[in-house]
Amino acid sequence: MEKPIISRLDKGSEYILRLEGALSEDIDFSETQFPNEGTLIIELDQLIKINSCGIRNWIKWLEIKKPDQLKLIFRNCPKIFIEQLNVIKGIIPKGSIIESFYVPYYCEKDDSTKKVLYKLNNDFDKKGIKQLKTILCEFCQKPMELDALEHKYFAFLART
Ligand SMILES: [Zn+2]
Repeated sequence: MEKPIISRLDKGSEYILRLEGALSEDIDFSETQFPNEGTLIIELDQLIKINSCGIRNWIKWLEIKKPDQLKLIFRNCPKIFIEQLNVIKGIIPKGSIIESFYVPYYCEKDDSTKKVLYKLNNDFDKKGIKQLKTILCEFCQKPMELDALEHKYFAFLART
């Protein structure tokens, strides 16, 4: 497993923090500073694995270091992150916004899978999913199935 990488990119008043690799015991947030205020976007597209030690480090880091005035936006959250979000309290601070997240689809016949990005306002809002997107299998051209339990996978929306 490659070492996780945390990188921060500042574009004027917009800050983007990118987490690549595994959120595991190897992750070290000690050098990662938050801006004092404004909005920080946390980009999770390249997050590939999460374990419980990593989650503990992550929650501690957010609880201790995040300034109260700083707003967090979570972008491109992968399935593994959404699954944790559904079971662990405090994984994202109160008032944070999920801007987009992936929804897994599959076609049983062709054994194919696809990650589909759902975006805030277009595809979901505070109340939940507006409508499940219809995704066609690239092999048989038939609609793919959701590769998760709908009421469980989207449960976090009502709570965040
Ligand atoms: Zn198919």
